[in-house]
Amino acid sequence: MATDGKVITCKAAVAWEPGKPLSIEEVEVAPPKAHEVRIKVVATGVCHTDWEYLFETGKGMKFRPFPLVLGHEAAGIVESIGPEVTRFSPGDKVIPLFLPYCGECERCLSPKTNHCKKNWTNMQAGVLADGTSRISCKGQQVYQFLGVSSFSQYTVVPDTSVAKIRSDAPLDKVCLLGCGVSTGYGAAINAGKVEKDSSCAVFGLGAVGLAAVMGCKVATARRIIGVDINRDKFEKARQFGATDCINPRDYSKPIQEVVVEMTGGGVDYALECVGSPAIMNAALESTRDAWGTCVIAGWTETETMSISVEKLLMGRTLKGTYFGGWKSVKDVPKLVDDYMNHKLKLDEFITEKLPLVQINKAFDLLKSGKSIRTVISLQDS
Ligand code: NAD
Ligand code: ZN
Ligand code: ZN
Repeated sequence: MATDGKVITCKAAVAWEPGKPLSIEEVEVAPPKAHEVRIKVVATGVCHTDWEYLFETGKGMKFRPFPLVLGHEAAGIVESIGPEVTRFSPGDKVIPLFLPYCGECERCLSPKTNHCKKNWTNMQAGVLADGTSRISCKGQQVYQFLGVSSFSQYTVVPDTSVAKIRSDAPLDKVCLLGCGVSTGYGAAINAGKVEKDSSCAVFGLGAVGLAAVMGCKVATARRIIGVDINRDKFEKARQFGATDCINPRDYSKPIQEVVVEMTGGGVDYALECVGSPAIMNAALESTRDAWGTCVIAGWTETETMSISVEKLLMGRTLKGTYFGGWKSVKDVPKLVDDYMNHKLKLDEFITEKLPLVQINKAFDLLKSGKSIRTVISLQDS
């Protein structure tokens, strides 16, 4: 390609400081270094974690440096590859990933986990393997959120953080497999291991929660109770397979007591998809003693929860999941296949499509509860 080996000047939404809207800027994206891939980003979802990091940094999330380019739920096309990259070629369709999979470490080789730590510390700090970012603006380094930064028309990521996907996959849909949908779906399938004819409760019916409902349905759960304080989410939750939908604000008693009563002792599986310790506790206490499992998918990096030890002594299991337990590079192409084979829904999550210049509107829609996922198209202006 004509741009191979050269700096690309393009548009990106830059977060100059916490708590302020994103600003559309011209940025420079350097060529990929060894084991890196430069991607033309075609579409990106806007995840709660992006919002949270911009507006709640230092509260629910640890501080990461600014300025930065957010975005971590995307799909695009390989523009060029750095030295020593063997698995990708320009033109390949790909999904960049915030969770690596090197395929070689003890964790990648174990079926017990998806937590590969390749480049982990640097990616969490917003830089790539050499300690720098490939994006700059007005002569200043711009950090890469979780090592991805998909709110930019081009970005550079490590080759261990990219999934190559089939060439007929629609990028404006499969981008959602880069975070939210994979996380919620996997929370039910992989982390919870939801069983046939079981009862489930899903707390929070955003994209992660709806994907968890979808996972429970695919696992042929008998009862799926959706819980949200926003009743506008209920219709969609029913479409995804929820059998009952309840709003904690409609009850004077704690929502866990309502779930326990509805199910004659508690659900077999509870999935927390909000990111709040109080709701994590409610989810745990909604499960049946002897074998109930509570899976935490909601994200908080700084908060702690206090739980009743007796609830665990009675045989419950509490676990958390990052990216739904999927081994990112290896499993995301299979999830794309599942979508193409109509086993997994994606279109139904998309409530809005906007160009990059309107990205702040996507945050407003997310925060006001009016959207499930807004997909930003990077290449239309
Ligand atoms: P979202 O904002 O679209 O959805 C959250 C939902 O929770 C909303 O529908 C909201 O009305 C509901 N809610 C808020 N307070 C509630 C309460 N008290 N009781 C019941 N429902 C309540 O967010 P999302 O994009 O679906 O993400 C959900 C969570 O998952 C966030 O914490 C996000 O950071 C996290 N996340 C985790 C991972 C991971 O790898 N574990 C990946 C992606 C997102
Ligand atoms: Zn996310
Ligand atoms: Zn690894």
